Amino acid sequence: MIPQDFIQSLLSRVDIVDVIDRRVPLKKAGANYQACCPFHNEKSPSFTVSPTKQFYHCFGCGAHGTAIGFLMEYAGLSYVDAIKALADQAGMVVPESAVPNPVRVQQAAGLLEVMRRAEQYYRQQLKHSAAAIAYLKKRGLTGEIAARFGLGYAPDGWQNLEAVFEQYADPILPEAGLVIVNDAGQRYDRFRDRVMFPIVNQKGDVIGFGGRVMDGGGEPKYLNSPETPLFQKGSELYGLFQARRAIRDAGRVIVVEGYMDVVALAQHGVEYAVATLGTATTAVHIQKLLRHTDEIVFCFDGDSAGQRAAWRALEHSLPMVSDSSRLGFLFLPETHDPDSYVREFGRDGFEAFMAQSVVPLSAYLFKQIAQQHDLTADEGKSAFLKALQPLIAQVVAPGLALMLRKRAAELVQVDMAELAVLWNVKTTRAAVASPARARRPAPASISRQLLRMVLFSPALAQQLSEDLLQQSDNDTQTLREVLAILREYPHLDTAMLIEQGRHQAHAVDIEQCGAEIMDWEADFDLLPEFNLAVEQLRTTSKQSRMQVLAQKSLRDLTEEEKKELQQLR
Ligand SMILES: [Zn+2]
Repeated sequence: MIPQDFIQSLLSRVDIVDVIDRRVPLKKAGANYQACCPFHNEKSPSFTVSPTKQFYHCFGCGAHGTAIGFLMEYAGLSYVDAIKALADQAGMVVPESAVPNPVRVQQAAGLLEVMRRAEQYYRQQLKHSAAAIAYLKKRGLTGEIAARFGLGYAPDGWQNLEAVFEQYADPILPEAGLVIVNDAGQRYDRFRDRVMFPIVNQKGDVIGFGGRVMDGGGEPKYLNSPETPLFQKGSELYGLFQARRAIRDAGRVIVVEGYMDVVALAQHGVEYAVATLGTATTAVHIQKLLRHTDEIVFCFDGDSAGQRAAWRALEHSLPMVSDSSRLGFLFLPETHDPDSYVREFGRDGFEAFMAQSVVPLSAYLFKQIAQQHDLTADEGKSAFLKALQPLIAQVVAPGLALMLRKRAAELVQVDMAELAVLWNVKTTRAAVASPARARRPAPASISRQLLRMVLFSPALAQQLSEDLLQQSDNDTQTLREVLAILREYPHLDTAMLIEQGRHQAHAVDIEQCGAEIMDWEADFDLLPEFNLAVEQLRTTSKQSRMQVLAQKSLRDLTEEEKKELQQLR
């Protein structure tokens, strides 16, 4: 967690105009700056950056945000990475809340050394095992590829690692996941009679192992190191270290399910493959891969387990994709896995199959949801929309989100405006409206008007009593959330307030309101309008209180309520 006060002081130091101008050259236009939008195709500029509000907004596609949001969207960075990039630019150092403590650093160094020695041992042992060599040869692997992936062999037997480490009883061995201590206190090697696949991190250090049984071997087929201080399955990918260059050259990465698939693909010239480590594809995996390339192909077996795994990958991908990324799914014929397919048809056959058969993420999403509903009946259509909404809502890439909504609307023959109402999508985001249309403000509730004014001039919050905000509509709830933030941090400016709102339930509404005040001039005197709105709010809250009291019969009213009613009247 990065401390909020750091984010605030970071935003006070950087200038969004500068941040964006380095990437998208801006031109001065009145009080603001403009450019053709980097997030959608356009010929005349509707992408606007406000130096006073430190916020950008595109009147064409509705994209908007702070300097942090811009870097996330534009450069495909994670929230934390965007903050780090901005901090670098501002010459600030992001404080780490988890300061590495010397004991843990030492422990990690010890673990790495243990893993390195185990890897060397397993590699040595491979040279002496005719059975393991025969197995790899049968799989079509050369000595060269085995060396490239550091393949090894853990011999049969219970305590072979005794020959490698002076102290077999050293607690660091179980901690590294190499030795198991059973309930009776007996110790034995985790990996026995298995071909060993070292798992390396991005620096090339061995952090874990996968062991695969050979033909006719026992269960399980694949055995991984347990989670250790070095190794977290959900964030590591087998083969990424070796594949980095090939991924860059090919402009794409394939994600497969097994280590043997990765090695076999590489053997046949498809060197841009990686594998998850016995877990489903996680958001961390996807984020990591998108840092290397824009195109990810998830390759699964054609069976129902493959379909389930694909769906999980899709769910984790939706919040991660940007408008420049291309994610797709490849299902192999049921009798094949990538290893067997590439061995039978070679690189060209595999790549030709891929070129023909990859299903884009959007198509896969619609296909999966559509086949669960009867789209010829109105009930089926409405259930289809209901199932789609939470999925599409996760897509933050504005262009893709737009295309998905458009396609959903087409499939059930409603128009975009109807869909926007149903899904409560803010219209500027929902449709690429003409700039003129998007700029015309929608009639806003009193709470919404106040929300805009407070965002424009956060100091106004001090004059707004929360007693007046009893309604339960969305705008009022958002306003209450913003007031709560400002009670804690009274000195925030617009951009800081929006950034602080990022972690709130109504983050989207807060940001949207930021976009709605883009046109407001910096020296705009809000006070008369603000007072009027507060007055209106007071009247409405009075009226609704009167209604409540008037609905009771006179006998049911307490003395106090009678007095109150009199006063109200
Ligand atoms: Zn745009």
